[in-house]
Amino acid sequence: MSKGIQPVRGMNDILPEDSPYWQAVEDTARAVFEEYGYQEIRMPIVERTELFVRSIGEVTDVVEKEMYTFEDRSGDSLTLRPEGTASCVRAGMSHGLFHNQIQRLWYQGPMFRHERPQKGRYRQFHQLGVEAYGLEGPDIDAEMLMLTARLWRRLGLDSVRLKLNSLGNPEARRAYREKLVSYFSEFRDRLDEDSRRRLESNPLRILDSKNPDLAEIIADAPSILDHLDEESRQHFDKLRRLLDAQGIEYEVDPRLVRGLDYYSRTVFEWTTDRLGAQDAVCSGGRYDFLVSQLGGRHVPAVGWALGMERLIALLALGDEAPRRDSRPHAYLAMMGEEAEQLGWRLAESLRDELPGLRLTVHCGGGSFKSQLKKADRSGAELALILGETEIRQGRVGIKPLRSGEEQFEVDQAKLADLLRERLD
Ligand code: ATP
Ligand code: MG
Repeated sequence: MSKGIQPVRGMNDILPEDSPYWQAVEDTARAVFEEYGYQEIRMPIVERTELFVRSIGEVTDVVEKEMYTFEDRSGDSLTLRPEGTASCVRAGMSHGLFHNQIQRLWYQGPMFRHERPQKGRYRQFHQLGVEAYGLEGPDIDAEMLMLTARLWRRLGLDSVRLKLNSLGNPEARRAYREKLVSYFSEFRDRLDEDSRRRLESNPLRILDSKNPDLAEIIADAPSILDHLDEESRQHFDKLRRLLDAQGIEYEVDPRLVRGLDYYSRTVFEWTTDRLGAQDAVCSGGRYDFLVSQLGGRHVPAVGWALGMERLIALLALGDEAPRRDSRPHAYLAMMGEEAEQLGWRLAESLRDELPGLRLTVHCGGGSFKSQLKKADRSGAELALILGETEIRQGRVGIKPLRSGEEQFEVDQAKLADLLRERLD
């Protein structure tokens, strides 16, 4: 049989058997965000291309080679968002959310990057992210990390580790950048093509190279932590003290730089060693200069985003991945026109009386045997049975599908009570 039109490479369907795992993460994250006072913001998926060029940075992998950019019918250059922060900043500026206000925001949704698809790396992927605006100090950085640590705990995840670094302020980084250029220039012939190119355009990115041949050179490179400005140093030290006091473990990693150019001061990544090369599950940091860079006033900001696909893959490796139970509580099987009439009435009144009851009503007729097979396959706890005998007696047959109990009967008038009791 023809499978019809092929999906786009690197873009996945999330099938009904998988969506309960996504929902569990989304539900848990939403609850934790709300508990910390973060509010949801929803941005469009498409933005003007210049937004990403000016925020993420012209000489980043994302802007150089990963964006889905196209001209729309009016000739405007638009881009499918490769990440959420730039859009969030744009939205905040568009609506004056940053005027003398503190904002704690969260978002979720699909992001698009034209990367080489492989396990944990897709062209459409999904992020959940948080952003806070208007707060300069390390307290909010710490809050964000506590929030993530709590999210992991709620999800039963214990295989992620926090890496922490500071990139200093832009001047300090410029000075450090010079140091790096002169250091790496000495090893020019040993660098790979990518890194040689980065030497001119974006030398900090060399530190992030995954090429094992460069590991040694990178390990001996000057450390950014020796080049921080005084304020950034204090910020970093205070953040570390706050995390220490909360018992949040981390490893300081002076090689941790981020793929997007807008970061300053604190940067971090939660990584795992259980997903192979795609080891970053959640990453973020401070971007105090992005709003002003985009033409706004000075608005300090910090945020992170997690990759849903990677987080879910990681949870799936555990014993019991969190999963929203969306299987029906009950499946109503019925035979004959009279039974159907009564059945639908009964089903609707159960839904009135028991909001949240997941009840599948059999459609399409067929024998009781085939209906009960479908009931079983639906995952329902109980089959409710309405045939001629049951109607005559004003009763409903109840067949427990999971517990091995015998089938029994109950008065139609008592069905709601029975379900309430059994399914709580
Ligand atoms: P990587 O180093 O793996 O490319 P990144 O630094 O590009 O990640 P960010 O831009 O910080 O990632 O995005 C935040 C999170 O989104 C990452 O930690 C990761 O979990 C996820 N992510 C990024 N790109 C992809 C992708 N192409 N497919 C799936 N998840 C992704
Ligand atoms: Mg990347």
